[in-house]
Amino acid sequence: MLDAEGLESTRKAGGIIAKLRKDLPRMVSPGRPVVKICEELESKIRELGGQPAFPVNVGINEIAAHYTSPPADTLTIPQGSMVKVDFGVHVNGYLADTAVTVFFDPTFEPMARAATEALDHAIKAFHAGVKLSDIGRIIQGTVERYGFRPISNLTGHSIERYAIHAGKSVPNVPQLLNSSKALEGEVYAIEPFVTLESAAGSVANLPDAYIYRFVKLKGVKNEESKRVLEDIHKRFLTLPFAARWLETKFSREVATRGMKDLLEKKCIGSYPVLVEETRKPVAQAEHTVLVGKDGCTILTG
Ligand code: MN
Ligand code: MN
Repeated sequence: MLDAEGLESTRKAGGIIAKLRKDLPRMVSPGRPVVKICEELESKIRELGGQPAFPVNVGINEIAAHYTSPPADTLTIPQGSMVKVDFGVHVNGYLADTAVTVFFDPTFEPMARAATEALDHAIKAFHAGVKLSDIGRIIQGTVERYGFRPISNLTGHSIERYAIHAGKSVPNVPQLLNSSKALEGEVYAIEPFVTLESAAGSVANLPDAYIYRFVKLKGVKNEESKRVLEDIHKRFLTLPFAARWLETKFSREVATRGMKDLLEKKCIGSYPVLVEETRKPVAQAEHTVLVGKDGCTILTG
């Protein structure tokens, strides 16, 4: 439950997102390097008085989540693609999270619309006391009416200070064993993911991972790695970060060597890139909401 200061900071984070969501379609175009999109959005977040809550995720076609540009990324937005841009902002650790889908082939329009409409319907039903499994039922029902399939193993989530995934899940399908309810004053990200009816409707890990998190300070001997780890701990705490972000303090060589050592020593962990299992395209919509007695308030739009 947020106190007055927490609420104000969360609203500020949401306000920064609401503003940037409007600029976002202009930032994404075929041929544009993905790293430019990540860096532009991250620097605009800072200019507006927030911090990125996690590295900007750019998910192209069948990539559902957790792709951010690694150092020296050469990836560009493909012609005719569908792109999810998922980004978050924090103000003193108070977070808001959002995602927008843009597409460069009109055949993707219904899938993107199904995600947006599923999110709208979920938000309309969201209030103190609602069973989170029922939100999953609403999302699935909306998506299926469009002739698509929701991704069943990706979920929305409760949000707390410095915790993007604070423990409660908002499923995109009904979960019979999930009896959790939303409580007044809680903050949630709701995020339907939609794919083709012929797809598996689930995501799997790729071998690559470009987003990391701090795990522990102990267990590393090398002085250079220690300096990298201390910087990570100080700057990002529990929040996810990108290797790119270390390059404001360290050379690419030092950062890369340090990260490799820290991953081996399990001082940091990583989030693998998530791909739709049958390699079918994925759309996503996401807003962060504050739960009220009779409804909820969208903080990010
Ligand atoms: Mn998100
Ligand atoms: Mn989220």
